[in-house]
Amino acid sequence: MTRRAALAAATAAAVPMSAGVASAAAPAAGRQAPGVYRYKIGSYEVTALTDGLVRRPLDAGFVRNAPIEKVREALSDAFLPPDKVPLSFTTLVVNTGGRLVLIDAGTGGMLAPTAGQLYENMAAAGIDPRAIDMVLVSHFHPDHIAGIRLKDGTLAFPNAEVVVPEAEWAFWMDEGQMSRAPQGMQAAFKMVRRVFEPMAKDVRRFEREAEPAPGIVAIPAYGHTPGHTAFRLTSEGEQLIVWSDTTNHPALFVRNPGWHAVFDMEPEQAEATRRHMLDMVATDRLWVAGYHFPFPAIGHVARTGSDFAFVPAMWNPVL
Ligand SMILES: [Zn+2]
Repeated sequence: MTRRAALAAATAAAVPMSAGVASAAAPAAGRQAPGVYRYKIGSYEVTALTDGLVRRPLDAGFVRNAPIEKVREALSDAFLPPDKVPLSFTTLVVNTGGRLVLIDAGTGGMLAPTAGQLYENMAAAGIDPRAIDMVLVSHFHPDHIAGIRLKDGTLAFPNAEVVVPEAEWAFWMDEGQMSRAPQGMQAAFKMVRRVFEPMAKDVRRFEREAEPAPGIVAIPAYGHTPGHTAFRLTSEGEQLIVWSDTTNHPALFVRNPGWHAVFDMEPEQAEATRRHMLDMVATDRLWVAGYHFPFPAIGHVARTGSDFAFVPAMWNPVL
């Protein structure tokens, strides 16, 4: 037998032609696998769940204070399509040992057909929405709060206490602010009312530097919205900064902290917050979880000369 014939015979023996298994082209799955990633901060177990993403066509107003060519260049430098900004949404479930805390609640499928995956990913992660004890909210933009309710208006996490920054509540629930707000912001004000009005008396509001959940301390990170809040999660000497929207996509706004995204309501204050926070997490080498970072949205911020860059965590198959 020639070597070639021997190989063919061996192959034939290993893969029986008649078995009907794996002998046809496999159908393409046509959809993404579940978006779930788990990691530990001290004894706390964090489960990152993607809610999906929206690809926003780039326009000249997306970064208010940079020419669109520069923004295209930054996207291209990150090997992203130069004409569309991928805005992804990553919520976190923190198991503190005593409580299950969901930090921000996704879009509820209310903003785009490509988002609203939180519930199915939570199911894939083996987490029952009825087991969530607390929904902790960073700020009141629709992509963070809409998912508190299902499309039919019922509560997605029926047993959870909803906990929000007082400064956000004070701004968004104010009728005067709503009436003075530009047309483009009316939908956001309406979403705030849709989500919170029916449960207003049950919503717990926390002050600037409170500890809304055990081991989770609020960091006032104002500017993106008037009461935009990040969180410092501490367990057994390890720390995670839950960044919320201190920056949007890191390829744009960690690289260019001076850029003002269209979403920043008080751009100068947002920039000062961003620079302060970038300096803190880079200097202290802290873990950072960013709501709009590429999934699983966890990593570090490195200083590169006078700039910063996001360094994603390496996938860890073992907890
Ligand atoms: Zn956001």
